[in-house]
Amino acid sequence: MTEKTKRERPAFNKIISAAIESHYNNIQTNRPMGYALMAPNPLVEIAYAAGIQPAFPENYAAVSAVKHLSRKYCETAEAHNYAPDICSYCRNNLGYVYDSKENPPFGGLGRPDLLLLTSSACTHYFKWWDALHEIYKIPMIYINTPRVMEPQAMPDYYLAYAIREIEAAIIQVEDIAGTKITHEKLSQAVTLSGEVVDYWHKLLDLQKAEPCPVNLTDISNALFVLIALVGKQEGVDVIKTVYDETKQRVTDGIGIFTKEEEKHRLMWINIPFWFNLGLFGYFEKRGCVFPLSDYTQYIWGTTKMDGAKPIESLARKALEGELNSSLDDQIEKMLVDIKEYHIDGIIAHSNRSCRVLSVGIPDAVKVIQKELNLPSLVLDGDHTDERVYSDANIMNRIEAFLEMLG
Ligand code: SF4
Repeated sequence: MTEKTKRERPAFNKIISAAIESHYNNIQTNRPMGYALMAPNPLVEIAYAAGIQPAFPENYAAVSAVKHLSRKYCETAEAHNYAPDICSYCRNNLGYVYDSKENPPFGGLGRPDLLLLTSSACTHYFKWWDALHEIYKIPMIYINTPRVMEPQAMPDYYLAYAIREIEAAIIQVEDIAGTKITHEKLSQAVTLSGEVVDYWHKLLDLQKAEPCPVNLTDISNALFVLIALVGKQEGVDVIKTVYDETKQRVTDGIGIFTKEEEKHRLMWINIPFWFNLGLFGYFEKRGCVFPLSDYTQYIWGTTKMDGAKPIESLARKALEGELNSSLDDQIEKMLVDIKEYHIDGIIAHSNRSCRVLSVGIPDAVKVIQKELNLPSLVLDGDHTDERVYSDANIMNRIEAFLEMLG
């Protein structure tokens, strides 16, 4: 497995680790607790406003991959007739559900009281959450939204429809939680969510600096706040700490490298190999940093939120996000950002699990090469299932690519 570098990481990683640990402690103790989809999911803010603790099976799958437990969980799911073609996040989670659960990471994901789903992601979720619904026999709240193929020309009735979905979901959540979600409570959750989103945008902007202040592993770590802690004061406090430290690094000219050492600024497309984050350490050893990734830039809930219009903000969140948009829209955004972040090479992960993020890679790479004349490398693998990852093969290809980059 790839060797890690000894470079000092930004101090905020420790704060994020503590927030992750606290989140998993809350999952053990707070009730009611609901499994929530991670992609832009307005039910997270609604859950916090209602005093419901959200938990995130995808995050737990990524944690399991980091701890090299994915093989076990995927095999358990496959032994229960879930096909190896199904996304490994899903197989991780269902394998965990059926596992004997001896010493699971962070004490486990717990048994949910409800399921919180939106349609703004991939089609896997419907069957995955349906399976969880069958297993646990608990209520499922579902927000259905249309695909937004052209965000700039979205018809008004899309928003009106999504607003009605949010209003219906709030009534269901109130019923389950046995509480009233007042306008004040919802507005407060959305305001806090908006503050996290604003910091997130400013944080990503700092990555344009040369030298790049922090690497993709640090930003991926911070992503936890944008997904899991939106609607909580804690989320604002943590992301502010991340932003402040990163801003200070930019002011002081501190980066992963010095400006002279920073040889290449690369873009990563798709989800990282969670079981081998040391790969980014290898790139660092070769003077390469990743200021930009579609994974941290576009996929999650980056909609501007307005506490004065909480339901409309949540409806917009449900409609936006890369997974609810078209490939053309994604490529447009990439072309702009590649220039703004001064990217000089592309590494794309053709992810066996996540076809929704992989199917457009050949076209995206072709357009980037044609429009910007940038070299690119496509790596085959999986975000959590190590069984389909060949370290020797991947390293050979990376080595050849880096030699070509010079
Ligand atoms: S296929 Fe992709 S979007 Fe769908 S659950 Fe898996 S990782 Fe998430």
